[in-house]
Amino acid sequence: MRKTKIISTLGPVSDSPEKLKELIEAGVDVFRLNMSHADQEWVRNVVKKIRQISSDLNKVVGILLDTQGPAVRTGTLKTPFELKIGDILEFTVRGATSNEPYSVDVNYDGFFDDVSVGNIVLVDNGVLHMEVLSKYDNKVRCKVLTRGKMGSRRHINLPGVRVNLPPLTEKDLGDIAAGVEMGVDFVALSFCREANDVRMLRDVLNKHKSSAHIIAKIEDQHAVQVLDEIIWEADAIMIARGDLGIECPIEELPIIQRLAITRCLQVGRPVIVATHMLESMIENPVPTRAEITDIANAVFEQADAIMLSGETTIGKYPVDCVRIFDRVARRIEQSPEIPPYSDKAIIVDVRQKTVKAAVVLAASLPGSKLMVFTRRGIMADYVSHLRLSRAPVFAFSPAETIVHRLSLNWNIFPIQMEFASELDDTLARAEAIMKERGFIQTGDQLVVIGDLVTEHELFRSIQLRIAL
Ligand code: PEP
Repeated sequence: MRKTKIISTLGPVSDSPEKLKELIEAGVDVFRLNMSHADQEWVRNVVKKIRQISSDLNKVVGILLDTQGPAVRTGTLKTPFELKIGDILEFTVRGATSNEPYSVDVNYDGFFDDVSVGNIVLVDNGVLHMEVLSKYDNKVRCKVLTRGKMGSRRHINLPGVRVNLPPLTEKDLGDIAAGVEMGVDFVALSFCREANDVRMLRDVLNKHKSSAHIIAKIEDQHAVQVLDEIIWEADAIMIARGDLGIECPIEELPIIQRLAITRCLQVGRPVIVATHMLESMIENPVPTRAEITDIANAVFEQADAIMLSGETTIGKYPVDCVRIFDRVARRIEQSPEIPPYSDKAIIVDVRQKTVKAAVVLAASLPGSKLMVFTRRGIMADYVSHLRLSRAPVFAFSPAETIVHRLSLNWNIFPIQMEFASELDDTLARAEAIMKERGFIQTGDQLVVIGDLVTEHELFRSIQLRIAL
């Protein structure tokens, strides 16, 4: 079984029932709905389709709603224009008009106040670079540093500048309401700048009575500066390398990725490596060697999940991309360099210590399987945190929401099952399911761990069972 989870972003090439089925069969664990390019009606439709198809296939699939966040964009241009080095361009706000041949409106009035002379403005995912020369009358005058085309509604990045937009815009709040109404499992917070942004989203989710997990996206310098606080506050982290590679010097990217993964592996937060992992496959049927090495690197670093964006939204080979992820992850996970379990995890409480004992036992028994019984998912989180690489982990929970959200955790195979009132019956039921699905055979060694209050007993123990 593959331990690293696969996230696929949905778009026009992948949201039909046929493609959703193919993607799930190829190995997708979580689908991402990117609200920068989607509306609420689409969310309602696609969530229904995913739930239906994954249930038909008897495969647990999580759903992640990714907010647009406080994005600054250019306004609408009648016609796009080409810019060359040395040209002057003016950004205008609050309806100001420019006398320069090149100018474009900005969707956020505070842009004028937030930028300073000397700042670098990047447009269209960092393709166009400009330097701020002066500010006057709601106009920001810039010198063009790289040639390129200016178009409508292009994304603007301001590296190092603190943009005074709220962490959640009106659009985000509407999208979140639609997502939680449809029961999404994760909400990603774009451009999370501090731990308080996570708390604000948590308040919003609480008001909706949603238990969706919060994924804080690390995509600018502010987030990197307070990384530990954000990791602590969030349920999971996404290293959003697209914007991060624009907002920070690009050579810092691998260092930030490694640091964020290391920190998440210490404290036990699922971590996703995102963007450009198979970018060339948007057009080409085969990946580059460098892309394979990038995927392998994330798997060696033991990220919980690797993510596809444009590859599965607009690319020509969405299903092949998932198959490549699957092949590379499985192969790298077999590498002798992967330790039997993690020595990075900081464990403090008695339940984590009990889990560690079970993990060490399973790691020492070749061919064993670990079964964890978990009502709230916490015991399963602990097992995943310890990165047991020598045995597959099956997590049983009666709650559908818990099973869905465990789709993101490294080496957790979630199974929904009602618990019996007697412990032995619960174990027998789980064993029967695993046997029926071909996961275990008679004679297999099963390390069992749980923290369950049944009618008659508190089961906080480790058992070693032999499958009958
Ligand atoms: C990213 O920037 O890498 C990312 C995943 O975010 P988005 O696609 O929303 O820009």
